[in-house]
Amino acid sequence: MRLARIASADGVAFASIEGDPGDGARVREIAEHPFGTPRFTGRTWALDDVRLLAPILATKVVCIGKNYAAHVKEFDGQIPEDPVIFIKPNTSIIGPQAPIRLPRSSSRVDFEGELAVVIGQPCRDVKAQRAADVILGYTVANDVTARDQQRHDGQWTRGKGYDTFCPLGPWIETELDPRDLRVTTEVDGAVKQDSRTSLMLHDVGAIVEWISAVMTLLPGDVILTGTPEGVGPIADGQLVSVTVEGIGTLTNPVQDR
Ligand code: MG
Repeated sequence: MRLARIASADGVAFASIEGDPGDGARVREIAEHPFGTPRFTGRTWALDDVRLLAPILATKVVCIGKNYAAHVKEFDGQIPEDPVIFIKPNTSIIGPQAPIRLPRSSSRVDFEGELAVVIGQPCRDVKAQRAADVILGYTVANDVTARDQQRHDGQWTRGKGYDTFCPLGPWIETELDPRDLRVTTEVDGAVKQDSRTSLMLHDVGAIVEWISAVMTLLPGDVILTGTPEGVGPIADGQLVSVTVEGIGTLTNPVQDR
């Protein structure tokens, strides 16, 4: 199932998207929340008649740093033994087509295309083999980063935490094997990143085990699984698109704040 959150003339709701999103898909409204077995209200729209929002409301976005060897090489060359984790505040989340706003305080803001995991139930101490049981599905993320501030500060909260620095969407795919998906990022149509999730140093199961040993994960929480090589800057007026095979494409314009 493709789960989305939509704004229509009737308000904001969760929904499922049925049919080909490129050709006449319908949107079916879900009552309350998408966890467990969704209950449908019976209201539907054409996909073109609604606006897609960030597909989930998260209490936190937990991210893995340095999870592809080729990206570690371009960052600092130091491959960590254990997963490196950090948090982006939920106020950084935006949906498809919403502008990424570049703060004046940074002179270098980068895109980072990533596969994102959406948690479906409260959980802690989840073993890797059981991770699928607590996952609602997968979406596409852009871990937007003020690279100059990330390097300057030595820790990453400021450089990763600005409002609009966590585009998510366009929807959550619930039927997906995350182990070998193509991840690509384009800026104004030029391919900048092109890799596969099979090259992660720590796979989705290991990541869920590692994070849930530290903190309770709640329904809707999002895990960003790390970016492959090819990260680079974005500038006012550009359009950045991240595509994950089997999910779809997340596109956002870039604007100066
Ligand atoms: Mg990242």
